[in-house]
Amino acid sequence: MSLQVLPGVSLKPFNTFGVDVQARLFAEAHSDADVREALAYAAEHAVPLLVIGGGSNLLLTADIQSLVLRMATRGIRILSDDGSKVVIEAEAGEPWHPFVQQTLARGLSGLENLSLIPGTVGAAPMQNIGAYGVEIKDVFAGLTALDRHTGELRDFTLAECNFAYRDSLFKQEPGRWLILRVRFLLDRAAHLHLEYGPVRQRLTEQGIDHPTATDVSQAICSIRNEKLPDPAVLGNAGSFFKNPLVSAALVARLKGEYPDLVAYAQPDGQMKLAAGWLIERAGWKGFRDADAGVHKLQALVLVNYGNATGLQLLNLAQRIQKDISDRFHVDLEMEPNRY
Ligand code: FAD
Ligand code: NAP
Repeated sequence: MSLQVLPGVSLKPFNTFGVDVQARLFAEAHSDADVREALAYAAEHAVPLLVIGGGSNLLLTADIQSLVLRMATRGIRILSDDGSKVVIEAEAGEPWHPFVQQTLARGLSGLENLSLIPGTVGAAPMQNIGAYGVEIKDVFAGLTALDRHTGELRDFTLAECNFAYRDSLFKQEPGRWLILRVRFLLDRAAHLHLEYGPVRQRLTEQGIDHPTATDVSQAICSIRNEKLPDPAVLGNAGSFFKNPLVSAALVARLKGEYPDLVAYAQPDGQMKLAAGWLIERAGWKGFRDADAGVHKLQALVLVNYGNATGLQLLNLAQRIQKDISDRFHVDLEMEPNRY
């Protein structure tokens, strides 16, 4: 018996919004055996089990009447290496950004655009994390998950994960799959994605014409550090809303009224609107109500100035949703997982 189950633990240090709610029970998993023990404990005591990683995509609106299991498993290993392509596997509890840094230090390219995203490796497939034109589906080589319904292990291929924009099978079947380890197909030769937003511009400013994957990672870190609040300083969960996918007809109508509307064409003919632009245009940027606010530099990010509750943050999000719907006829979907 290695699992330590603690009663009545504050989750404030375990969610990047810094919301202070209590977990009825709390434990950390350092091995697959701990995970199985936690599942057995939850079944025996008839409490639900909530798995978390870094808590960077959570909105906790009340005390959690569950056994909260924080994934803290560690381990990174190369599974295959043909001299050009490498399959690397990491345990679910590995912190994401240090893992990305480790792949770059080993001369492997593929994850550089996903630098500085908080959280863990195990949570990354949940919403198919993405940034600067790359999503993990682009470098995904498989994962192993525990089916909480049957207790069996299952290996997933790329096609089986149903990855989509900030979405996956694991998100679509909440509470079923506990991701234990994830595999990535990386490359010794860099195939860089520089077309997105300010990445190329930042490299040019730095006098870098022929960047390496590490140069791209550093450029993205510097852009992100300028724009996004550090959760250690100001509580937040990154983008609070997904960028909405809408019809080209709606974009054409909106452009009539708002010629500077930001919209990107998608391969399926839909258009992706920049939710941050809509929220900023509606006047919410920098808004603050008690300790719940909209970030001063990035309107897509809700922030906790100290003692905001999850319900206050949710209330602010719902006010923004209603306003955006009234003004632009666009429905914003919240991105963080709510409990
Ligand atoms: P948590 O918040 O702990 O959990 C998220 C969900 O996954 C929960 O439903 C939880 O139950 C489930 N879960 C966690 N671990 C497991 C597991 N092992 N098995 C099964 N289910 C699990 N996201 C992006 O996509 N792109 C970005 O660029 C980005 N930038 C961000 C910047 C900031 C400043 C912040 C605060 C967040 C950002 N995010 C971004 C959101 C977030 O960092 C990612 O979604 C991240 O993958 C969440 O990881 P986590 O370990 O913190 O997950
Ligand atoms: P940005 O560069 O100001 O761009 C605004 C939005 O427009 C982005 O959200 C992005 O959508 C979209 N966009 C920009 N250039 C695009 C292009 N060339 N093609 C298609 N879409 C484009 O965005 P930002 O807020 O500073 O974030 C930069 C990147 O980090 C984005 O990819 C963003 O998703 C990611 N990020 C995510 C989170 C999160 O919590 N999910 C938090 C911070 C940053 P996409 O979001 O679809 O890429």
